[in-house]
Amino acid sequence: MFTKILIANRGEIACRVIKTARRMGIRTVAVYSEADANARHVRLADEAVLLGPAAARESYLVADKIIEACKRTGAQAVHPGYGFLSENEEFAEALAANGITFIGPPASAIRAMGSKSEAKKLMGKAAVPLTPGYHGDDQTPDLLHKEADQIGYPVLIKAAAGGGGKGMRLVEKSADFPDALASCKREAISSFGNDHVLIEKYITKPRHIEIQVFADTLGNCVYLFERDCSVQRRHQKVLEEAPAPGMPEERRRQMGEAAVAAAKAVGYVGAGTVEFIAMQDGTFYFMEMNTRLQVEHPVTEMITGQDLVEWQLRVAAGQPLPLKQEQLEIRGHALEARIYAEDANKGFLPATGQLIRLAPPAESINVRVDTGVEEGDEITPFYDPMIAKLIVWDETRDGALARMRQALADYQVAGLTTNIDFLSRLVACPAFAGADLDTGLIERQKDFLFPAAQPVPRDALLVATVGELLWEQHAAKLAAKTSGDPHSPWHARDGWRMNLSSARTISFKDGETLVDAQVRYRRDHWAITVAGETTLARGKKLEGDRFAVELDDRRLIASVVAVDDRRSIFLQGSTVTLLRDDPLHRVDAGDSHGGGLTAPMPGKVVALLAQPGQAVEKGTPLLILEAMKMEHTITAPAAGVVKAFCYAAGEQVADGAALVEFENAD
Ligand code: ADP
Ligand code: ADP
Ligand code: MG
Repeated sequence: MFTKILIANRGEIACRVIKTARRMGIRTVAVYSEADANARHVRLADEAVLLGPAAARESYLVADKIIEACKRTGAQAVHPGYGFLSENEEFAEALAANGITFIGPPASAIRAMGSKSEAKKLMGKAAVPLTPGYHGDDQTPDLLHKEADQIGYPVLIKAAAGGGGKGMRLVEKSADFPDALASCKREAISSFGNDHVLIEKYITKPRHIEIQVFADTLGNCVYLFERDCSVQRRHQKVLEEAPAPGMPEERRRQMGEAAVAAAKAVGYVGAGTVEFIAMQDGTFYFMEMNTRLQVEHPVTEMITGQDLVEWQLRVAAGQPLPLKQEQLEIRGHALEARIYAEDANKGFLPATGQLIRLAPPAESINVRVDTGVEEGDEITPFYDPMIAKLIVWDETRDGALARMRQALADYQVAGLTTNIDFLSRLVACPAFAGADLDTGLIERQKDFLFPAAQPVPRDALLVATVGELLWEQHAAKLAAKTSGDPHSPWHARDGWRMNLSSARTISFKDGETLVDAQVRYRRDHWAITVAGETTLARGKKLEGDRFAVELDDRRLIASVVAVDDRRSIFLQGSTVTLLRDDPLHRVDAGDSHGGGLTAPMPGKVVALLAQPGQAVEKGTPLLILEAMKMEHTITAPAAGVVKAFCYAAGEQVADGAALVEFENAD
């Protein structure tokens, strides 16, 4: 076994690999970019090497720097995690040439599966069922268009080198094909440096079911059953589970054996995932093979009781697989939810910022949290905005669902927008709870999943008000302690006012709505009036940002996290956000992000879609911005005229930068 390995990755997966290595007595070397100098994976590793600037192509993607780091630290093997260089065959080869072990498959297997088109050709030969479509070498646009017409719409155009749900376009009708092809190729070039595409029949109401396979260097190959990853947004997985609900034993075996055949056809070694698209009747087709450890591998670990990273390390060291097929079995049910910094209500727009508060649910045999960040850390625009993976296990699917609901309710994050509320609705929605799964579930359930904004509940407003009052008291006490005269009436915060009635208004903004709380100070409580109704309140500040609050005859425990004028209120398993509105500092509404013609985040302009001087309708696409590896279309906010573009295609823009000079028609 190795005594020291280097992990060529960051975030939760680097931390996850370090955990197993440490348990096995293997020393670890982390690598990091300038943006990650203080990251959790750097803190956890035994030593760490700086690679370069924040941009991945200048740090985590530079094979030479990683090899150099291995030499400097004496690391004998490299775990690539997922993403970055994990499916880069030149990297695997370069390591081998330097006498360093790649903890992954042979370069030849990565190459064989690297292109979705080439993989399909090989799988066809190995008699693995294929999604119907065109995966030829001829890439003439007219020919591709004809092939699509022949396959019959809807079709999916896929970048052969694609991954992570990027580089895919659904085409509903022949007339839309040329534009979709151009846009797919543009994204493919910028994300993967290769615009070769394939076309597939778009399967309606499909399930995404994938098989975890494992092979060693001695010719053994097993499958560790399936994961159902049907719950997706923009072809990216959101919730994953194992086993797949409703999977008959016989089909599990068929899919498992097809996956093993796929792996054997390319001389596979190590952990791999064979992804199938399955119709509702169970018919399944090969989609692609991911030649690495998958993001969602923990659900497999939870139901099999195995540590897949340990298996990877053993196999890479030349040992046999720890178990044979007949020794593997499924126990219970596991679910994984990907906790992201993103705004589900704004098209899952990635968010960035500091994790002012980050309090995940407590871990146990039922709850596991894989994360790369801690409270105080930052989610930067440079990398994937995943905060953590929340994994739960129980004997049954219903038990696991209940655990997930509770764990999401207990998850506290403040400082940036997350998808936690969205995930809570997702696991509660009848379609998911009832295992009525297909990749269109989120779209189908959108009324349930994206309800119109509700006013903040009265309790949360009252708690927020009490929070302000308690903070003032606390601050006054601190001020009194540090000033010369602790008994001065000027430090009192009990509502005593010279020549003033002891009533005041504390105001909040709930979205666009201004909400006033009238506070009257009484001898041992406050009388708080909101919306014409009065509640008697008391409160006590506990440690940190926790408060004990009494509202009439009820007692509650809540947390209120304040960042500037933002207040995140954690109360009884839900989170609401208010803005403290100070009438003295009220700014007028014309803020620079409102127009929709500013960059919602730092990024690169990839295409200008209108001409200066052009008159456009409301909603006309004007410009495409690529940010955080996704394309965002900036559209006309109203009917009007495009005066000028502020940037040319290819230029970098800062967060909030004005992109288009636009004149409204009226
Ligand atoms: P699949 O390849 O089937 O989509 P994964 O969900 O494991 O499976 O993710 C694929 C790869 O894409 C991973 O390497 C992951 O790092 C990367 N990835 C996933 N989501 C994003 C994203 N939003 N932005 C950038 N990279 C992503
Ligand atoms: P990636 O490399 O980005 O993971 P995949 O080929 O694995 O690309 O496809 C990602 C997702 O897109 C699948 O999980 C599925 O939801 C959807 N998808 C892919 N191919 C098809 C298809 N032929 N019909 C319908 N949906 C598909
Ligand atoms: Mg995939």
